[in-house]
Amino acid sequence: DSTRELLLSRIRDVTDYPKPGVMFKDITPLLADPKAFTVLTDALAELAVRHGATKIVGLEARGFILAAPVAVRSGIGFIPVRKAGKLPGATLSQTYDLEYGSAEMEVHAEDLREGDRVIVIDDVLATGGTAEASVELVRRAGAEVVAVAVLLELGFLDGRARLEPHLRGVPLEALIKV
Ligand code: 5GP
Repeated sequence: DSTRELLLSRIRDVTDYPKPGVMFKDITPLLADPKAFTVLTDALAELAVRHGATKIVGLEARGFILAAPVAVRSGIGFIPVRKAGKLPGATLSQTYDLEYGSAEMEVHAEDLREGDRVIVIDDVLATGGTAEASVELVRRAGAEVVAVAVLLELGFLDGRARLEPHLRGVPLEALIKV
């Protein structure tokens, strides 16, 4: 539909970034277009409300840019999930595998608790590792994940298949899939 077309038209393909052979989906043209950014924010806020979210978790770093205006628009609190070592308070952390090596993400333990209904927001779903780790993190904090929402799903990387067993029925919402 028209929302999808507008959003897709503002995502730029960058070849050989961050390394040779990789095609990077660059969302900065979308962020620079206030009409497209507003359409995106509204679509994600609609999902947050539809799933009855009471907390919005954004994933560092581009997930922050998308999730923060959604939190303001929908009147729901924003909780950052950050790369290890960035949060000053007591944290829970989750390690996950990358193509080469591993990474670690953290959340302030006191930001999430039992009874919270969380929508996890990021820009791109690639292999699904980042989303999987964040779902585990939110659950370990005692909260419930009610949806995972991304702007763009890279279907050829099969992130959805990797994520699905961990989602346990929680919807993975992609505004665009390529
Ligand atoms: P995954 O863990 O699913 O393999 O990778 C997803 C994470 O890497 C997301 O946080 C996303 O921001 C980033 N990422 C991976 N590939 C791309 C891409 O082509 N474009 C953008 N904008 N982010 C990507």
